[in-house]
Amino acid sequence: MTARYRKHEVPEEYLGKWQETIDVLASIFKVPAGLIMRVLPDEIEVLVSSKTDGNPYEPGEKADLETGLYCETVMATRAPLHVPDALEDPAWKDNPDVKLEMISYIGMPLIWPDNSVFGTVCVLDKHLLESEQSYLQLVSQFKDIIERDFQMLVRNSELQTLSGELEQAREAAERANRAKSTFLANMSHELRTPMNAIIGYSEMLMEDAQDSGLAEVVPDLKKINRAGTHLLSLINDVLDLAKIEAGHVEVLAEDLDVAALVDEVVGTMRPLVEKNANVLEVQYGESLGCAWQDVTKLRQALMNVLSNAAKFTKDGVITLRVEREVRAGVDWLGFSVSDTGIGISADKQELVFEEFSQAEDDTTRNYGGTGLGLPISRRFCQMLGGDLLLKSRLGEGSTFTIEVPARAPGDPEADEG
Ligand code: ADP
Repeated sequence: MTARYRKHEVPEEYLGKWQETIDVLASIFKVPAGLIMRVLPDEIEVLVSSKTDGNPYEPGEKADLETGLYCETVMATRAPLHVPDALEDPAWKDNPDVKLEMISYIGMPLIWPDNSVFGTVCVLDKHLLESEQSYLQLVSQFKDIIERDFQMLVRNSELQTLSGELEQAREAAERANRAKSTFLANMSHELRTPMNAIIGYSEMLMEDAQDSGLAEVVPDLKKINRAGTHLLSLINDVLDLAKIEAGHVEVLAEDLDVAALVDEVVGTMRPLVEKNANVLEVQYGESLGCAWQDVTKLRQALMNVLSNAAKFTKDGVITLRVEREVRAGVDWLGFSVSDTGIGISADKQELVFEEFSQAEDDTTRNYGGTGLGLPISRRFCQMLGGDLLLKSRLGEGSTFTIEVPARAPGDPEADEG
C-alpha cells in the first residue's frame, strides 16, 4: 500500500530561518549534508539543504517514494534512524543515497501539529557516523526547534483565518446596518408623503367645514389632524435615530447668538408649555454671547426637553435657565429645564435615555409618546461635544440639563496644541 502523504505549505520567511538552522547542524556534525526533507503526495523533496562543501543535494530536488530511501523508513516508522555504515548493512547497501556516496545517516521524523508526517530532518556523511547517543539527541533538538516553528505557523494561519472571518462578519454587519438604514430612510419618506397629505387636507377640510356651516364635523377633523401630526413626528424621530445609528448625521456648526436662540425656542414652545396651566419662567445668565454650534440639533434637544416638561407637569412651574461658564479654560453653555411635574424615580433615570423606553409602563396610556425623544436628544448633545443630564425626584419634579461647549468639536478657530 502506498502511504498517502499530504503536502504542507511553508511561508518563505521560515525557509530562510531553517537554512541557518540546518547549516549549523551540518557544521556541528562536520558532514557534507544536513537536510530538511518534505514529503509530497507521491514524492519527497529537498526543502532545505545545508550550504556545505561536497553536498550533493540541491534544494527543490525531488525523488520518487518507494525506492528504499533512508527518509522513507523514518517517515513510515515515525522513529529516529541511525545507519552508521550502509555498505556494511545488507538492508541499506543498495539504497539510492549510497550511489551519492552517502553511506552514513542520522534522521528524525518531522511531525506536523495535526500528527501528520511533514518529512524529516537528517544528516548524511561519506564516512562512518559513530553511533553516539549524543548525536541522536542533537538531531532530536533540531527536530524540536523545527516542530515548534510548525506550531507557530499553524497558529498564525489559524489567526489569519479567524481575523479574515471576523472581517467578513464585520463587513456583513455593516452591510446589514446600511441596508436597514436605507430601508428606514425610504420607508420614512414613503410614509411622510401621505402623512403630509392627510395633515394638509384635514386642515383644508376644517376651513371648508367652517365656511360651509358644517361645524359639527370640525372636532373629528381635528382628531385626524392631531393623529396625523403625531404620526409624522414619530416618523421623523425614527428617521433621526436611523440616521444617527448609520453614522449619517454630521455636526453642522455655525455662529449663533445664544440669547436669540433661546428667545426663538421659547416663542415657539410657550403656548404648549402654558397649555397644562403651567407657568414658564426664563432666566438668562450673564453675557451669554455668541457660540459656534449646530443650531438645528441644539434647538431640537431643547424643544424636546421643554415639551417633555410641559407634558409631565400640570399647574406647575417650568423654568428654563441658560448659563455660560468657563471650565478648565473652555466655555460651556448650560440649558437647564426644571419642572415641578411627576418626576422620575432613581431606578428609572438611566432607562429614559434608552430607545423606546419610558419611565413607567402606563406612560404611553396616560401621556402618549414613544420614548425616542430623549435618546435622540442625548446623542445630539454628545455629538456636539457635551451631554444631556438628568436630576429628578419622583413626585417632585425633574431637571434636564443640556451641556455643550460653546464651540463644537472640529472648531477651525480653536488654539492648536
Ligand atoms: P416620550 O416622551 O415620547 O415617551 P422621551 O424619550 O422624550 O419619549 O421620554 C422618555 C420617558 O422619560 C417619558 O416617557 C417619561 O416617562 C420620562 N420623562 C421624560 N421627561 C420627563 C419629565 N420632564 N418628567 C417626568 N418624566 C419624564
